[in-house]
Amino acid sequence: MSRHGFELKTNEQIILMRQAGLATAAGLDAIRKLIAPGITTLELDKAADDAIRAHGGHSNFQLVEGYKHTICASVNDEVVHGIPGSRVLQPGDIVSVDCGAEIGEWNGDSAVTFIVAGGDPEVVAKRQLLSDITEQSLWVGIAALAKAEHLNEVGRAIEAYVESQEIEHRSKFGILEDYVGHGIGRSMHEDPPVYNYGIRDKGPKVVPGLCVAIEPMITNGSAKTKILADGWTVSAKDGSDASHWEHSVAVHHKGIWVLTEPDGGLAKLAQFGVTPVALS
Ligand code: MG
Ligand code: MG
Repeated sequence: MSRHGFELKTNEQIILMRQAGLATAAGLDAIRKLIAPGITTLELDKAADDAIRAHGGHSNFQLVEGYKHTICASVNDEVVHGIPGSRVLQPGDIVSVDCGAEIGEWNGDSAVTFIVAGGDPEVVAKRQLLSDITEQSLWVGIAALAKAEHLNEVGRAIEAYVESQEIEHRSKFGILEDYVGHGIGRSMHEDPPVYNYGIRDKGPKVVPGLCVAIEPMITNGSAKTKILADGWTVSAKDGSDASHWEHSVAVHHKGIWVLTEPDGGLAKLAQFGVTPVALS
């Protein structure tokens, strides 16, 4: 246990978490191959479930009380917690898919935003930019974790990057504050919270064994949210488009390892001069 009361993982435990991370990545990869106009979000859910099972895992979203699905699929102004169903995806839709797997008692959690092929080029370009900025903000946060003394440096780095993009693109981007990242391990959601913006508190020290899910959620407008009548789906209050990207990341004695990215984060972290290190 850390001084802050959450479990620090051993190298052996992190290696087990990598298996859950790869099963999670397989679930998202199955969706990447399938997503197209005309498919329903429930069909995507089934594909992710099959892929996770083929990797020897099972959905940890189904362990959340009252939730029956393997993914959350949040379309357009929906940000997170969208329930898969009969909704048919349309050309140009922006779809944030959140997915998680458990193997043994260890968990993975990751999210990707997809833009469905086709659609109005102007709308699609704006959505692609939002997704690209959200994805890059995730990697900025992961790179910050690699160098951080305290955890809340991650949120400061994410916020500073998003602000720089507001200036560059003369656009408003809203970082959600109602929902944040979290520790991960024996449960999908553990302490400590991982903010996507700067707060006064420094947060816990970044030490070997810290495992967190970093997950920026960003809109093309206001960060304010509302929950839809289904009781789950979180959508942008002002109707803006939204994007969500997430990875589960381990800190260990040799560096960091992005557990839900098949290459461990090697390709995406190179731009920051950060080399992730796999444990074996
Ligand atoms: Mg997630
Ligand atoms: Mg999460």
